Amino acid sequence: MTDSSRTPEPPEGLSDRVVADLEGLSPKELRKSIVFARELLHSHEATEFPIDPEPGDDILRVTEHEGYTAVVKQHVCEEGCDDCPHGPYLYHVTEETLPDGTHETHWSFIGRVNADAESDD
Ligand SMILES: [Zn+2]
Repeated sequence: MTDSSRTPEPPEGLSDRVVADLEGLSPKELRKSIVFARELLHSHEATEFPIDPEPGDDILRVTEHEGYTAVVKQHVCEEGCDDCPHGPYLYHVTEETLPDGTHETHWSFIGRVNADAESDD
């Protein structure tokens, strides 16, 4: 079979391995793959955003706002120092959807906050 006109072009960025696997599937298996891929996507979206703490980061408070998520966190150095813990600091976290469908989070440093004060301003 050399008729390639009926073979769909795989999307750019999809690995050859995945393309080859998908091309080898039966329609029934393909349908199951779509369902599974959709579930995987949902679980990624649920866990990737908004908080991805770095080692030593201590998330104190997460508040959802219109258009951004306010995160208060403090940082403890791996070896500890006289100034530990650092912060707490307030960040505004926003999520951007890139043209390829992946998500990118942006952490904007706002400033130091008082850990004990529940400020509403
Ligand atoms: Zn420190």
